[in-house]
Amino acid sequence: MSFQSIPEILDILQIEALYQQQPLKRLLDCWQEVVGKVVATHTQPVSIERDVLWVATSSAAWAQNLTFERQRLLKKLNKVLPTPLVDIRFSTAHWQRTKKKPYRQQSISSREHPSYLGNMSNHTFVKSFPKNPDTAFANWAKAIKAQFSSLPLCPNCQSPTPKGELERWQVCSICAAKSF
Ligand SMILES: [Zn+2]
Repeated sequence: MSFQSIPEILDILQIEALYQQQPLKRLLDCWQEVVGKVVATHTQPVSIERDVLWVATSSAAWAQNLTFERQRLLKKLNKVLPTPLVDIRFSTAHWQRTKKKPYRQQSISSREHPSYLGNMSNHTFVKSFPKNPDTAFANWAKAIKAQFSSLPLCPNCQSPTPKGELERWQVCSICAAKSF
């Protein structure tokens, strides 16, 4: 789970929505090609407002250097863009937010929960990085299924139940919740 604040998430969503806008999407597709790999890693186009392109930079020095180069970049960009840009503004303002933040660790250990199923990282699906969300989900579902098929059954409803739940309630967590 992430503990990002709502305004922060909205900011990210807003930036992602901006990416979907056509001219910017087109620009992002050719950005690295136009500016080069090094510059691309220190820059992130954020939006196009009234034909002015706003670009986030990793540092103020990059913003300054690129501001001097903006006429050259404009010429190159306008060759590939359907609507020409009139200017480019570089700023460090949106840099942090355009880069996805890593999720923070949960503060409570999952091992302490009675529904804990053992160390999932022993499973092969974690070792190989899935190429897309569908594969990731399929692998995850497979791993969960494998986990559940080796579990003892709840004496009440006969569904596979983590040992921790049986030790604590003698039935699965669902049956236990019903009896409360
Ligand atoms: Zn049950």
